[in-house]
Amino acid sequence: MSEDDAGTAAGAPAGANAEGAAAVAAVEAVAERIEDERDHLTQLDSAIGDADHGGNMARGWAAAADAAGDLADPDPETVAKTVGKTLMAEVGGASGPLFGGSLVFAAAELGDGITPESAVAFAETYLEKVEDRGDARVGDQTVVDALTPAVHTFKKSIEVDDLPPIEALAKAVDAAERGVAFTVPIRARKGRASYLGWRSVGHQDPGATSALFILEELLAVAADRLDVEIPETDASSPTIPDDEAAEDDPAEGAGSEDG
Ligand code: ADP
Ligand code: MG
Repeated sequence: MSEDDAGTAAGAPAGANAEGAAAVAAVEAVAERIEDERDHLTQLDSAIGDADHGGNMARGWAAAADAAGDLADPDPETVAKTVGKTLMAEVGGASGPLFGGSLVFAAAELGDGITPESAVAFAETYLEKVEDRGDARVGDQTVVDALTPAVHTFKKSIEVDDLPPIEALAKAVDAAERGVAFTVPIRARKGRASYLGWRSVGHQDPGATSALFILEELLAVAADRLDVEIPETDASSPTIPDDEAAEDDPAEGAGSEDG
């Protein structure tokens, strides 16, 4: 056995075991980061919500890290499912089922392990479920505003630009950061913040912010596990997939009112 095998449990099949261990490490890193950001997230939620997002997420992710750490022979699907179920049970309120339930559902995409394709499917399914369950879309000042550009950018980077996964993930984090900034000048249309109407304008969404922190930790753990530097990213990459731009039909005639 060479020194390069350090980190792989002796006698275990390297691939699956390494992916499961990386997934557990990611959950632990997220739990630690969310705990560090607890007051920050609570402050954001106190401006436009009920000041519980920091506590909700810290409690949920601490329990999720415990549960993931207790798994005997973790694989990525089981880790994701365990985290989702724990978030559902521990977070409660509106955001437990929203964040946790969507994760339980998306976890199935990791059944054959973590590949660029399965990671894209996982990300897309998670976003779809959050949108469905919350009935939220881009521009509603929610977590969807961070996730949508992140998931679109990740998918395009893998499927169209054929970038290495770590670079795709770095670009996704970049896109999420811009998505978080986008929540500030818009009005909340879903969740508690929507009760404020126009007074929600000028505030950064807490859920979008915690989603960014989670993505940052996934990137850090991925880079660490692959033993590479976090790539420099170019923030000017478009974040809207081509198929959504195809809706303008210049041939449109019948049925349109033009005077
Ligand atoms: P609660 O809103 O129950 O107090 P949290 O404070 O933990 O739960 O989470 C608030 C975050 O949840 C918001 O900042 C927003 O990002 C997200 N959120 C709330 N409602 C929705 C919704 N209907 N769709 C999508 N995301 C939502
Ligand atoms: Mg809240």
